[in-house]
Amino acid sequence: MKAQTFLQLPPQLVEDSASNNGSSVAGDCFDDDFLSDAGRESPSNADSLAEDSDDEAVAVSSADMARLRAMSYDRSRDRRCDCDNNDDHQHNTNDGCDQGRTRPRPRQHPQLRIQGVDLALDMGGDNGGGGGGAYQPLVSILPRGTKPVRLVGEGAANAVFEIKLPPGSRLLRVAKAPSLGRAPTSSDYYLRQQEFFVREIQPHLGEHAVSQELVVLHKSGIVDDLNAMLRDMNHQRKPKFQGSFIGHASWGFLVEDMRPNGDDGSILIEFKPKWLLQSPSAPKGAIRCRQCALELRNYLKTPGSKPPRPERRPCPIALANPDCPEQVASPFRIAPQLSALQDDARVQAILDKIIHHKAIQKLRECQKSLDHVGPLLPPTNLDFVVAMTLRDCTCFALVPSNDDEEIKLRFGDFDFKDPEKKFNHWRGTEQDLIEGGFYTADWVVCGDSYYHPPSLCSLEWSGKPRTGDAVILLMEDNTTKHNKHSSYQNNGFPSSAKTGKTVYRHTADLAALHTGLEPFKREMGGAQLDSIYNNPLRCDPRRG
Ligand SMILES: [Zn+2]
Repeated sequence: MKAQTFLQLPPQLVEDSASNNGSSVAGDCFDDDFLSDAGRESPSNADSLAEDSDDEAVAVSSADMARLRAMSYDRSRDRRCDCDNNDDHQHNTNDGCDQGRTRPRPRQHPQLRIQGVDLALDMGGDNGGGGGGAYQPLVSILPRGTKPVRLVGEGAANAVFEIKLPPGSRLLRVAKAPSLGRAPTSSDYYLRQQEFFVREIQPHLGEHAVSQELVVLHKSGIVDDLNAMLRDMNHQRKPKFQGSFIGHASWGFLVEDMRPNGDDGSILIEFKPKWLLQSPSAPKGAIRCRQCALELRNYLKTPGSKPPRPERRPCPIALANPDCPEQVASPFRIAPQLSALQDDARVQAILDKIIHHKAIQKLRECQKSLDHVGPLLPPTNLDFVVAMTLRDCTCFALVPSNDDEEIKLRFGDFDFKDPEKKFNHWRGTEQDLIEGGFYTADWVVCGDSYYHPPSLCSLEWSGKPRTGDAVILLMEDNTTKHNKHSSYQNNGFPSSAKTGKTVYRHTADLAALHTGLEPFKREMGGAQLDSIYNNPLRCDPRRG
């Protein structure tokens, strides 16, 4: 097909292919990144879309069409990363060099025909591994009359609806119209997200990535239906979202519905795997992984009087790690809502399958290969940004009621993170963790009381008992006026003069801290020796 100024797309979904290689469920796209970054079609941009006199047709600009075709070409090459056997080298994607590491996705049939011509037929002819089956869907078009079933979730910038699309239901993710206080962002947000997904995520995760397909909304009529639904249920929506509606944009995403079918006993387990390896810029003496250090910091900064429950959150180092110490290995950490079933062997076996799934191993290998430096230095390439995206994705595991069926495990939440906006935050967090002693702390001290840090990290339970200087987080009260001025009084300059201790000083609400940390108290008399928090590997805090 020659480049044409405009191509008319008939409003029909020619074939709903078997492209079930991914999904997303409600709630996975409402994080801050998305809220601040969601793009949509502004009225002025809408003008640049070709308007056809025929109301039955929609059109895509030639520029967008070129991007779509480039994406389709990238997909058709079926690029696969070689993260899993290239540990010491820079990541590179690898055309046609599959070597059986990851099974290629099942080939898909073309979804879109334009004036009787398969767009996917014209993708350059050298589409490598596909032979006759090298079709990849470019975009989907909703059949006229497609109706929304229900609102599944919404954020400030977007909403997700369930729609009926035979043979099943799918989720439709669409952008909201700009409103007061929220700046409209670029009109090609969905195209850019899709480019990032096709070029940077799918080559790494393949069928383990929740798929998203561009869908043409323009003139489908569905936006009016979505808004009618929102209007009807306005009073049931969160107050902050009431009165916000869907914009008349060109693009949305169709994503597979990963929600469990309410009737068949299947369940969905959802968790964030986070940094599956220690941060490359963590200090040498770290006894806590990046995620466990972050959670420790977050609790100590604003302690609640409710005790923290680290056993209800996964340590990423413990995932897909057969060498993980048993004290931190409980698979119920990814599904604390099931913890009442600790003695249920079937549930235990299911959760074990999830945390040891080969997809999590693959995610770890990709995180490893994409970033050897960590977030202290400005990123020099896109790999780092991809690594940060893979460190913040969500894992969805759909567990069938029948144990003979496979657990379906997918990763989602791949919104592009703009390093221009994010880098200072990434670096600041890492500095805070290092300079505040959160990676290395053996003890939290409030007054005369010593507490085990409220974390259950795989690294804390590995190796020999620690010797040398005990690292102490010395907590001082910030509720009295005179020392409220700083949360970190001694950042970066821990004192260790001949005391046998390295001390990092912090301030917090000590009354709350004493109450919240009670289960973590170091009992000299051994009263709590059987507590899971009593870690015998810690430094003796009173040495010297
Ligand atoms: Zn950890």
